[in-house]
Amino acid sequence: MAFNIYYYESHVDCKFCKKHFTTYKVRPNRYKITEEHSDFMPVYEGLNPLLYEVAVCPHCGFAYHKSMTRTYGPFMQLIEEIYIKELRKPMNICHERTIDDAITSFKLAYLVCRASMEEALLMANIALKIAWLYRLKNDTKSERRYLVAARDFYSKSFASNQEGSERILYLHAELSLRLGDISEAKKGFSRLISDQHVSVKHRKLAKNRWENYKYDEQPTSIESISQ
Ligand SMILES: [Zn+2]
Repeated sequence: MAFNIYYYESHVDCKFCKKHFTTYKVRPNRYKITEEHSDFMPVYEGLNPLLYEVAVCPHCGFAYHKSMTRTYGPFMQLIEEIYIKELRKPMNICHERTIDDAITSFKLAYLVCRASMEEALLMANIALKIAWLYRLKNDTKSERRYLVAARDFYSKSFASNQEGSERILYLHAELSLRLGDISEAKKGFSRLISDQHVSVKHRKLAKNRWENYKYDEQPTSIESISQ
C-alpha cells in the first residue's frame, strides 16, 4: 500500500491458520473523541477507529479482537468445530471499511468468542460495541437486540468479576434505562449512589444520570450530565 495519511497496515499472523495478512488500522492522530454517550460510546470526529478493531483473516475467516484470551489449545479446537467449519467463504475486509463491514467483523468475533466460551464480561463488551455500530446506522431495532445481549452478559459477569465492577454496575443500570426497564435501572443507580464504597466518579455519574432521566424522562447523552 502507498503511504496513506488516514490508515496504516497492521501486520498480523493469524492465530488460527498461522498465515500472514495485513489489515487497516486508523492512524492515532487521525481521530478525536468529541463526546461520549451515557453508555460510554465514544463519538469521533474524523475517522472511527472502532471500525478497525477486529482483524479478520482473509485466509480462514478467524476474527480476532485484542480483548480475547481463549485463542490457544483446546479453545482453538472448539473454534474450529463450531466456527471455522461453519464458515462458507472467508471474506476480505482488511481494507477501508463501511459500518456494515465493521458490524460483520464484530459479529464474527462474537461468534468466535461464543465458540471458545469467553468470559461473560468480554462477550458483553463485544455485544455493546455491535450495538454502538448499529446506533451509528440509526438501526434501533438491531441496536436494541445487542443492548439486550450486552446487559444479559453484564448480569452474568457480576458474580465472577470484582475488578471494574462499578463500571459494570453502571453499564447494567444504563442499558436497563435505555431498554426501558426502569425498575432495574433505578435499582442499579440507587445502589451506586448509596454505596459509600463506590468511587466518587461512579457515584456522581450514576446520580447525574438518574436525576437527568427523572427530570427529562428521556435518554440523553453524557454531554448534558456534565453541564
Ligand atoms: Zn487464518
